[in-house]
Amino acid sequence: MASVELRNLVKSFGKVEAVRDVSLTVEDRELVVFVGPSGCGKSTLLRMIAGLEEITSGELFIGGKPMSKVAAADRGIAMVFQSYALYPHMSVAENMGFALKMLGTDKAEINRKVAEAAAILQLGELLARKPRELSGGQRQRVAIGRAIVRKPDVFLFDEPLSNLDAGLRAQMRVEIARLHEQLQTTMIYVTHDQVEAMTLADRIVILNQGRIEQQGSPLELYERPANRFVAGFLGQPKMNFIPTFAKPSPSGPVLSIFSTDKAVLSLSASPAIAPGMAIDLGIRPDAISVSATNAADALPGRIVVVEHLGGSSLLYVQAAGVDELVTVEQHGKTHYAVGQTVHLAFDRGDVHLFGSDGRRIP
Ligand code: ATP
Repeated sequence: MASVELRNLVKSFGKVEAVRDVSLTVEDRELVVFVGPSGCGKSTLLRMIAGLEEITSGELFIGGKPMSKVAAADRGIAMVFQSYALYPHMSVAENMGFALKMLGTDKAEINRKVAEAAAILQLGELLARKPRELSGGQRQRVAIGRAIVRKPDVFLFDEPLSNLDAGLRAQMRVEIARLHEQLQTTMIYVTHDQVEAMTLADRIVILNQGRIEQQGSPLELYERPANRFVAGFLGQPKMNFIPTFAKPSPSGPVLSIFSTDKAVLSLSASPAIAPGMAIDLGIRPDAISVSATNAADALPGRIVVVEHLGGSSLLYVQAAGVDELVTVEQHGKTHYAVGQTVHLAFDRGDVHLFGSDGRRIP
């Protein structure tokens, strides 16, 4: 078991700076998820920890020991890849025991460790099969089993569930969470899927263009995103951003829609909000109240698409003076139809405000 410390890590590929000055400590036994859009540098960062990618500058410590000059095989880590990377000609048991065999571990010990990992992953019945005789989910479980038998100090997962269909992904997500509970080992997990990040992580690290945008527990990031990027990245369906500006009034600033001057939210006076300031009003789809009748400060709009998802419905609303459709999530059975006029109301407690630099306004 071990902590992992990244100190000012940089990785350049020629002129491309894939990782720019990343500092972070993953505590012993913590499950940290690196998440971000394609190309943000999350796989490169993981591969630097694994020793598969040279570090351009900065320092890496595993269990307090400097690792920059330590070979991948000697870092006490095991990595699980998206592609499974199983040996096709070997059985499940041989695949799982291969690394131990290479280390010269005796046969009885290999069998014992493979059986132990197979029991954890419910692979006991499949030990004699070849990878081609397994489903995608079973193959990924073998790949995880192969990592477990090595009893690493740190597990690294690189998008391990991306090749699976949605149902299997959800199931494997639960299995990885249980595995972390059971093994109590440090894990770093890379994904572009914010649902995986939200559900698995003790702590999420959101990366963008090689830098950390924000880190914290899933709920901290969800409830208090530090900037528009994080706010828009976490949450499904995504947060709405409505362009407004601040108008002074005797009781405090009022946010009004840019093009129509329609007031939609009253705020209490704050030194952070100057008259005339452009502010993006961020609101999650399930936090918007919808009514058929007009109310003060409600934003009128017309429903252009309704998606019925069973337990909830998504309404896409063309709101007056707002270019992008506003997404509204309604729970339970709804009677809304395309073409209907609705009035959208925002509660101050549910609203996130972002300045023109994208940063959260306190
Ligand atoms: P994805 O989710 O698409 O895998 P990622 O966040 O894992 O993306 P990386 O694979 O870490 O992103 O890549 C980060 C950046 O570094 C990208 O701009 C990529 O094009 C670049 N890059 C990665 N590997 C190399 C390489 N070997 N040579 C040159 N550029 C590279």
